[in-house]
Amino acid sequence: DRMKQAVSRTRENLSESIGSVIALTREVDESTLIDLEPLLLAADLGGETTAIVLEHLRQRALRTGIDGGADLKRLLKSELKAILDGVEVPIQHPVSGPEVIMMVGVNGTGKTTTSGKLANLFTTQGKSVLLCAADTFRAAAIEQLQVWADRSGVAIIKTKQGGDPSAALYDACTASKARNIDILIADTAGRLHTKTDLMKELDKMRRTVEKLIPGGPHQTLLVMDATTGQNGMQQARLFTEAAKVTGIVLTKLDGTAKGGIVLAIATELKLPVVYAGTGEKIEDLIPFDSSSFIDSLLD
Ligand code: GDP
Repeated sequence: DRMKQAVSRTRENLSESIGSVIALTREVDESTLIDLEPLLLAADLGGETTAIVLEHLRQRALRTGIDGGADLKRLLKSELKAILDGVEVPIQHPVSGPEVIMMVGVNGTGKTTTSGKLANLFTTQGKSVLLCAADTFRAAAIEQLQVWADRSGVAIIKTKQGGDPSAALYDACTASKARNIDILIADTAGRLHTKTDLMKELDKMRRTVEKLIPGGPHQTLLVMDATTGQNGMQQARLFTEAAKVTGIVLTKLDGTAKGGIVLAIATELKLPVVYAGTGEKIEDLIPFDSSSFIDSLLD
């Protein structure tokens, strides 16, 4: 299955190393947990998540005991699932009118690619989609989005490079209403300038949408590159402080052994991963299911 394939490198890294600890374990004690710690950190779960998980397992071992490796694995799975379940929120789709999805994040994370993949996904689900090229800063971002739009036969609203992203968004919102569009996806600029500039720019775009589309933007998806690890977490924090991010798209999950970042995102950013990028092709995007993610990591 696609999730299993997407996390295969992380699984090799985590499952096999943990597997060796678990295979050796008859009775789980402090030394088992000490062995486990670097393995969780190596998979990019982050210090906070690792500490929480180990503490819960420690308490469990003291309270009722943990009966060997299989029991340890089962408990670890349920701990990790609980962390992801804790940040899960149902998506609020509008009752009528276009649903607006803003794509934000640092350049190079895969924002434009993901915008194109999402447009394609929704189109195959029978929805009418409009793309908005509001990344007017990065050279080639507009042409790149046009290519994705052509591939899935989706219309696109764009201005020239250097133009005002909010103006493009204004046109896109107006067009979405006039054309009865189901979903408007806006690809925004991801230059990392100062936090105040970033806030101002994202705020201006948000207000533009709010004025034209009731309840919008409905989703603000922060695109994160799974291969960038703790550095990516730092950049993500800046965006969550600047915009009302509702969920994460985690790209390049196919290229990393550090898929455990999903858990660091839940613990440290308190956000769910809603989609995962699993390659460079248009169909390489999967709706993220946290339960099957954990099952795929540790089976
Ligand atoms: P942007 O600057 O954030 O808009 O990033 P782009 O969409 O231009 O993507 C940057 C690079 O990452 C491109 O070469 C994409 O093909 C690649 N990319 C995006 N998503 C994925 C993914 O899920 N897996 C892999 N392997 N590559 C990806």
